Amino acid sequence: MSSLTVLKYPDPKLRRKSKPIAKVSSSIVSLAEDMFETMVAENGIGLAAPQIGELIRLIVMDVPKIDPIDPEKIVHDKLALINPQIVHGEGKIQYEEGCLSCPELIVLVDRNEKIRVKYLDLEGRPCEIGAEQLKAVCIQHEIDHLDGILLVDKLNRIEQGLYKQKRLRVAGEEKELATIL
Ligand SMILES: [Zn+2]
Repeated sequence: MSSLTVLKYPDPKLRRKSKPIAKVSSSIVSLAEDMFETMVAENGIGLAAPQIGELIRLIVMDVPKIDPIDPEKIVHDKLALINPQIVHGEGKIQYEEGCLSCPELIVLVDRNEKIRVKYLDLEGRPCEIGAEQLKAVCIQHEIDHLDGILLVDKLNRIEQGLYKQKRLRVAGEEKELATIL
């Protein structure tokens, strides 16, 4: 396993629409493992393949949940979804979202509170699950990535412009630093 580099806004790859995965091969499985490792290293709860430069419809996530047996305990809920598709959504929830590809940005976003999602698992089996609250928010956020939609798009035009300027300045400074070093 290896940790991968997470692309940052305004990298143009983050804007492309990702392609469905035709066959769940062993290279897809090992990519998912690397994505899990990257997500943990970056302290994220979800990661979509385009964020590491792979334009395919694969997302990984781990939204911690309360242990059904021992409510004092928080347990992992690792999930990899291939070609995810929301087949039902209901209710409204507002959540302050962050994104590994949009550093230093927190946006209050409107989402469906409950969803049902169809996908293939890492063995290529068709699955369907229900998700609510933060897990539902996370799935909707990651599917946005597969369609080239970013957290920054949830800002108004003026805020978007300011954020872009700030990121370009940071990217420029990092580049300058790289040439000095
Ligand atoms: Zn994100």
